[in-house]
Amino acid sequence: MSNQVEFGKNNLRIYDKKFIKFISYSEIKKRTKVITDEIKRDYKGKEPVIVVILKGAIFFAAELMKNLDFPLRVETLKAKSYGNQMKSSGKVELFITCEDLEGKDIILVEDIIDTGLTISTVVKELLNYRPNSIKIATLLLKTKKFKADLKIDYCGFEIPDKFVIGFGLDFAEFGRNLKHIYILE
Ligand code: 5GP
Repeated sequence: MSNQVEFGKNNLRIYDKKFIKFISYSEIKKRTKVITDEIKRDYKGKEPVIVVILKGAIFFAAELMKNLDFPLRVETLKAKSYGNQMKSSGKVELFITCEDLEGKDIILVEDIIDTGLTISTVVKELLNYRPNSIKIATLLLKTKKFKADLKIDYCGFEIPDKFVIGFGLDFAEFGRNLKHIYILE
């Protein structure tokens, strides 16, 4: 293992940054189940398209979809805004490979929403595909800086304005594979 990353029991270090365990996988699982029950109710009789925002939302999307027992389609797009820093660059780059969204009911799945810039850029872009509807599901929402004029339909956890990693979320590409969510100490 590289010496850039060091694991403890309930903490870890990446480069010079220390993180401590914040939300356990069992809490994530429990909360995701509640959200999927809501989605099941809302999409009864429909065949939504789950649009996963890469790379961060892969774990959350998988956890959600495991519990959805109706036909659905999965598409992906890639959004880049952070770079290797802990601060947003203020610019969002999108790489969209989604197919056949016209007239469809989209559930956009995101890992974390901070200011809301990324998700509102994605929504604006997807509206060009003329879907029937777009709803937003995010695992984490940092409420402090959120200022987008958007409804967040499904939210796992509201969290403080601190940097987090794990369960798909990275710091300089490290930490995505962590089972739990960790917060900067
Ligand atoms: P926003 O555009 O809402 O300000 O920021 C959302 C994007 O910034 C997310 O898609 C994610 O890539 C990144 N981001 C925001 N906060 C965090 C965080 O605490 N940890 C990580 N790893 N990424 C974050």
